[in-house]
Amino acid sequence: RIVYCNGDFMPEEDARISIFDRGFLFGDAIYEVTAVLAGRLIDNDLHLDRLERSLAALSIPMPTPRSRLEQIQAELMARNGLSEGTIYLQVSRGEADRDFLYPEGLAPNFVAFTQARKLADTPAQRNGIAVDLAEDPRWARRDIKTAMLLGQVLAKRQARAAGYDDVWMVEDGLVTEGASSTAFIITTDGRVVTRPNSRSTLPGCTRKAVLRLCGDHGLRLEERGFSPDEAGAAAEAFATSASSFVMPVVKIAGSAIGDGRPGPMTRRLQSYYIEAALNAEPLHP
Ligand code: PLP
Repeated sequence: RIVYCNGDFMPEEDARISIFDRGFLFGDAIYEVTAVLAGRLIDNDLHLDRLERSLAALSIPMPTPRSRLEQIQAELMARNGLSEGTIYLQVSRGEADRDFLYPEGLAPNFVAFTQARKLADTPAQRNGIAVDLAEDPRWARRDIKTAMLLGQVLAKRQARAAGYDDVWMVEDGLVTEGASSTAFIITTDGRVVTRPNSRSTLPGCTRKAVLRLCGDHGLRLEERGFSPDEAGAAAEAFATSASSFVMPVVKIAGSAIGDGRPGPMTRRLQSYYIEAALNAEPLHP
C-alpha cells in the first residue's frame, strides 16, 4: 500500500512518525474517514468541513490547503487502485518534548492512507446488526473528532465479547450514539428520530446526508433524544457512518426491533443513500 506522510507518498513500511508526536503521547490529533464507492469520494466536502472545524477547536492549523488535501486523497486512490473502501486522514499537533503545555508554532504531522474493503451490500447491510447498550464512558467534547478513542475501543470490545456486533452508548437515560456511528430509530407511526447535534455526540456527516434525504423524500423527522426503552420498542432502528452508510439495527440489548429484520423505511434510506452516492462526480487526480 502506498501511504502519504508529511508531504510524500511512500510504501507503508517507509512511513515514520516521531515518538514525540503529540498524537502518540496525548491523543492530541484529529482524524477523518471518507468512504470511497465506485471510485467516488462520498460526502467528502462534509468530512473536510468537519476536519477544519475539529482542527480549529484544538487550534491546530490545517496542514495543507484544502485543495491539496483533495489532491492527496485522489492520488492515494489512484496509486492504490482503490474503488471501494475508505481514506483515513490524521493531523496531529506535531512534535515537542513531552509536556502537557505545548510550544506555539508546532508543525502538524499529517498522514493519510487507504483501506480497501467492501462497504455496500455486505451481509451486515442486508441482515442488520445487533447492538448492546453501555454507559457512555467518554469526555465532554465528543463533537470534536479526536484520535482519543479508548472509550469506544473498550465499549465495542465489551459488546463484542457479549456476542453483539456493536454498541450504542447511553448518558442521562438517553442514547448518545454508536461507538463509531450515529443512532436513529423509527417510531411505530413512521417518524425518523435522532438526537440533535451537541457536544455530547459527533455531528455525523452521514447523519447530515441522511436527514437531507429524509427531507427530499418527505419522511417525517424528529431531532430529539430517545431512551434505550423507546429504542427497544421502536418499529425500526439504524446507525449511520461514513464506512457503514445506513446500517440496519435489528436487535438492541436483547430486544428484537420490529420483526428482527431490517425494516422497510431503513431499506428505503439505504437505497436513497447509495443512489445519491453513485450520482456524485467521480474524482480526477
Ligand atoms: N459518532 C462517532 C462517535 C463516530 O466515530 C462516527 C464516525 O466515525 C460517527 C458518529 C459517524 O460519523 P460520520 O457519519 O461522519 O462517519
